[in-house]
Order: sequence, then structure tokens, then C-alpha cells
Amino acid sequence: MSTFSQYNFAGQKALIRVDFNVPLNDKFEITDDTRIRAAIPTIKKILQDGGRAILMSHLGRPKDGPSEKYSLKHLVKRISELLGGTPVLFANDCIGEQATLTANMLKPGEVLLLENLRFYKEEEKGDEGFAQKLSRLGDVYVNDAFGTAHRAHASTAVIAKFFPPGKKMFGLLMEAEVKSAEKVLHQSQKPFAAIIGGAKVSDKILILETLLDRASDIIIGGGMAYTFMKAEGGRIGNSLCEEDKLPVALDLLKKAEQKGVRIHLPSDSMIADKFDANAITSMAPSNNIPDGWLGLDIGPNACDQFANVIKKSKTILWNGPMGVFEMAKFQHGTRAIAEAVAAATQKGAFSLVGGGDSVAAVNQFGFADKVSYVSTGGGAMLEYFEGKVLPGIAAIEQ
Ligand code: AMP
Repeated sequence: MSTFSQYNFAGQKALIRVDFNVPLNDKFEITDDTRIRAAIPTIKKILQDGGRAILMSHLGRPKDGPSEKYSLKHLVKRISELLGGTPVLFANDCIGEQATLTANMLKPGEVLLLENLRFYKEEEKGDEGFAQKLSRLGDVYVNDAFGTAHRAHASTAVIAKFFPPGKKMFGLLMEAEVKSAEKVLHQSQKPFAAIIGGAKVSDKILILETLLDRASDIIIGGGMAYTFMKAEGGRIGNSLCEEDKLPVALDLLKKAEQKGVRIHLPSDSMIADKFDANAITSMAPSNNIPDGWLGLDIGPNACDQFANVIKKSKTILWNGPMGVFEMAKFQHGTRAIAEAVAAATQKGAFSLVGGGDSVAAVNQFGFADKVSYVSTGGGAMLEYFEGKVLPGIAAIEQ
């Protein structure tokens, strides 16, 4: 496997799978360009070497072939701006004559953006013929789309087989994601604390199972904590509970005990009389919540309890908020955890925040640069921590 940084792209056409699946408003303006920004260092390195960059991505979920709504042409201007004014050519089909001709005409330092890969059903089906057609556009394949690494699509995995060893590699973003994830899952320094929150136990069973073989401490917060509380015989009022997962929760607690993994459930909760930003609030032990009330955040004692564990840890994984952080009244717990993770990081711990809402929370609270790594790949990172082999990673590493 080649390393991107060591590879000299001079004279090469680099076919780069990026994740430019950005949100657009009604006027086709980009409302959040984070994903484009994340790929810029990879593109810049290729251009600075004297290479040519051919960018391919999906955008949204087009159902019936090409459509204005999902066209990548809306991104051309922004990509060019983020590359410091480098002109970006556009091919209105990702395969075919125009794409081939434009790719062949590219000069060193130039960029070509291909139209949405998902305008072809073959992309998501992982069609070999389609992957081969795409592969002919480049001399070297660079995968920088960690966000789609858990999909065995034509452009994310299948395509790699059409490039010889040494001509397929991760881009800088993907490399950083994979390295951080490996550091936590396979090379963690102990004590290793995993903080798992969010709404549902059912979404996190597999990740909890994997962590039972890796972590020293598992901190469970958010709505999912109440299923565990109830499983242990607690009174949880109207808090979120998945009745059908009570046996699973008990089983996880039992396995943790057998394996010597310490499970931490929130000792107290901020409770509310309704699920509402203006609800009346109070505090209660998490296993003794009065009827009619529901736990919407961890309480102050739980914040201290969790922070003590986090501050003693050398490796930290955080997935999922501690409460309904979208409402100001119930964001204290998530903020307190962000502070504890930042403090541990400053003391030398390696901290990775990965997966959906906890990423949104650290960004919102301004902690993104106070943790070691914030993952851009929600679903992909989650599947990695569920112990699954990600096709996008395997295709390059094989
Ligand atoms: P997830 O996508 O599973 O990480 O869940 C994130 C969602 O869980 C967020 O929208 C939170 O508002 C929600 N959440 C966190 N804590 C609670 C809670 N105690 N009760 C209800 N929802 C919660």
C-alpha cells in the first residue's frame, strides 16, 4: 500500500473519491461546506506535485438518473474558491466521451469535477463494468471519502481492483480517520474510557459489545441510560425506554462484570415534566424518577462521576450526547463531558469524537480543537467501532 504523502503525483491523473455530499438550500447554495474543506489538503498536495485532480462524489439520493437538484455543478464555484481560485472544470457525466476527453486534456495543476456518481444505479450496486469505466479516467486512485467507506459501492471499493498495488491509496482525510480509529480500537493506551450516549440502546448494541473487549470503562448517558436503569429495577418515570431491549441491557451489564469492564450509569438526572424546551425541571436519582417526569439530561453528580473517570483515562472514545443537547436547558451534561474530555486531552490522553450528534455537540460548544480528533464519518465510524470491516478501507489495504 502506497502512502499518499510519499507519492509524487507529477504528471499523473489522480482520480479522487471525495465525499462532497453537502447540504444545499432551495437556491442550490451550499449551507455547510465542511466536507469540501476536509478534502482540500489532499487535492492541494496533488496539484502542488504537478498532478491533475479528477474529483468524483455522490450528492444526495437521486432516484431516477440526472436531475438539477442533485447536480454537482452547484459546487464548482465553492471548490474553486477553497482551492484559492484554481479553475475547476466540470463534466456533466461521470463516465463517457466528455469526461474522458476533459480528463485527457487536463494540464498539471488543473481540476476536473465529475457529475454525481449516483445518477447511475450502477454506483450503489457496486457494478464492476461501471467501476472499470470510472477507473480509466485516472492513472492513480485516491480514496478520501471516509464517510462512505462502509459502502461497497463502485467508486468507493470495487474500483480499487482496477489499479495495481502502489497506484491506490488513502487521501489525507481518510488516512487521518483510519489512523485515529485504529489508535482507539487496536492500540489504545489504558485506561480506555468509552462514552456512549444518544437516544437508543438498539443503535448502540454492537458498539457496546465490541467495547466490552477493549475498554476499561464504559460510560453510558443520554436516553439509552434509562433502559439500563429500568433493567436493573429502577423507576424511570416517562423517560425513554426500549422495553424489548431490557434483557439485552441486563446481558451487557452481566458480560461487563465477567470481563472486568466498569460500567458507569448516571447517578442522577435532570428531569422535566414534558419533552419541551420550556419544561419545568428538577433533579432526581436516575433510578427513582417520579411518574409523569422524564430524564432529559444527566445531573450534576453524574457530571462529576463521569468527569472523574474521563480525567483518569489515557484513551477516550465519545459517541452520542448525554442529554437532549439541542435544547438549552438540557445541554449541561454534554457540555460538562466535552470539558472533561478536553481536560484529559490536555493532560496527554488521545480522544476521538465520532458519530453524528456528539460531533455536532463538540462543534456547537467550541471544543472541536480541544480534542485529539473529530471524525467526519458518522455511519462509517460507527460501523468501524462495531468491529466491521469497511469495504472502502479493505479495498485499499488488501
Ligand atoms: P443518537 O443519534 O442515537 O446519538 O441520539 C442523539 C439524540 O439523542 C439527540 O437528538 C438527543 O436529543 C437524544 N437524546 C439524548 N438524551 C436523551 C434523553 N435523555 N431523552 C431523549 N432523547 C435524548
